[in-house]
Amino acid sequence: MRVLIVEDEVRLAATLQDLMEMNGYNADVCHDGEAGLDNALTGIYDIMILDVMLPKMDGFTVLKRLRGAGSATPVLMLTARDQLNDRVEGLDCGADYYLTKPFEPQELLACVRALVRRQPELRNTEELTYADLRLEKNTFTLSCEARSVRLSRKEFDMMELLMLNRELVITKETLLLKIWGYESDAEDNNVEVYISFLRKKLDHLHSRVKIRTIRMAGYCLADSDS
Ligand code: CA
Repeated sequence: MRVLIVEDEVRLAATLQDLMEMNGYNADVCHDGEAGLDNALTGIYDIMILDVMLPKMDGFTVLKRLRGAGSATPVLMLTARDQLNDRVEGLDCGADYYLTKPFEPQELLACVRALVRRQPELRNTEELTYADLRLEKNTFTLSCEARSVRLSRKEFDMMELLMLNRELVITKETLLLKIWGYESDAEDNNVEVYISFLRKKLDHLHSRVKIRTIRMAGYCLADSDS
């Protein structure tokens, strides 16, 4: 799961990024509102943590433009001010949650978990299933009947995306952005390498699920029995 953090206080942004990553999320940081909006509009983020007071564009404007562009990405707004007006304005702009600084890490994590629960496709993420496969989030284990393998972090992220999308094609570019993020210099090649790792593991599991390559488009899962 990929989180976008838009926060201009560099140290706080880094702390939030560490906190999210220690709790199993992938997290990217932007330090101003314009960059935050640009990144959020790519649609690769599952959740956004958005500060209100930001250089270049304030958080309310970012949120209004994001919602105006049709994005439903859940947004948790952060602010140092705790005035009622700000909270009301934030919620009016389409924020899903509002948290006042300073806050405890546990409080932020609870808000993020609540946002995750509101997204139907991200619910029940402890275990994902597709055909004869089962993917366990807590242990990064992929299993098929009695056989199981442990996945690396990147293999897990990729398998999770494929299983969430099932037979829908997911592009190489989306995989690259969702798994390696913006700042990374990973290339298409990385995606191919990890797809081949996953295919070997599916063979090892004797699963009837295949990862199909759709030329010029991307990848999707296929159940060879159906
Ligand atoms: Ca700020």
